[in-house]
Amino acid sequence: MRVRLLCVSAVLLTGCGAAAPTVSASTAASATAASATAASAAASSLAARPLESVASPASASALPAPSDFTVVETAVTAADLPHSWRDGCPVGPADLRRLELSHWGFDGRARTGILIVHRDAAGDLRSVFAALWREKFPIRLLRPVDEYGGSDDDSMAADNTSAFNCRNAVSTGPPRWSAHAYGRAVDVNPVENPYLISGRVLPPAGAQYTDRANVRPGMAVAGGPLVRAFEAVGWTWGGRWSAPDYQHFSQNGR
Ligand SMILES: [Zn+2]
Repeated sequence: MRVRLLCVSAVLLTGCGAAAPTVSASTAASATAASATAASAAASSLAARPLESVASPASASALPAPSDFTVVETAVTAADLPHSWRDGCPVGPADLRRLELSHWGFDGRARTGILIVHRDAAGDLRSVFAALWREKFPIRLLRPVDEYGGSDDDSMAADNTSAFNCRNAVSTGPPRWSAHAYGRAVDVNPVENPYLISGRVLPPAGAQYTDRANVRPGMAVAGGPLVRAFEAVGWTWGGRWSAPDYQHFSQNGR
């Protein structure tokens, strides 16, 4: 299946002035690189989305259903992350990117979702989601945790797939940043793939999916399309941990 990639930067479209105080020189440099990529995509005669459609973030439900796999990568600012980022977080908005991605729903229909990720993870995740599209692997929802007020519990309860969230790891040890706080981890279909820790099931609705031998759509299983897609780019699956976190895939192994 043809994979159409388009990479532009919202910085170029909205300007780098007062509206984007956290944009750094490195973002400007990567915006230039993104522009070159966009030019390359256009030169290869692939159909491009109207620039207006990427300049203003829209809710996932308002995004058009794709007919083929597409990725649109844009810069983000602190204003785009009102609940998931704050001063003191281990990475800044300039280190993050917004990926607008095609995916399949559980109803077999194509959708477009949004994932906020570390800029160094964007390339891996393009590959992962292209593979999931080819395999028609279903994803319930793909929205930034800001749409859930930054609440991991609410996002999980909604069966939402998400990446960046500046929060501590959910663990029994001393407080430490989660890989999500760096945008280097993705939680996929949390209800179908719960986190089992200290006798708890997170989210609670995941209790109906603790029997991992009963494989149903959207589940992460060893050798299945979801785990294969992430392991193909060298990411770690939390489902292999002693306290299995079946929804969790990370770039840094944590
Ligand atoms: Zn996670």
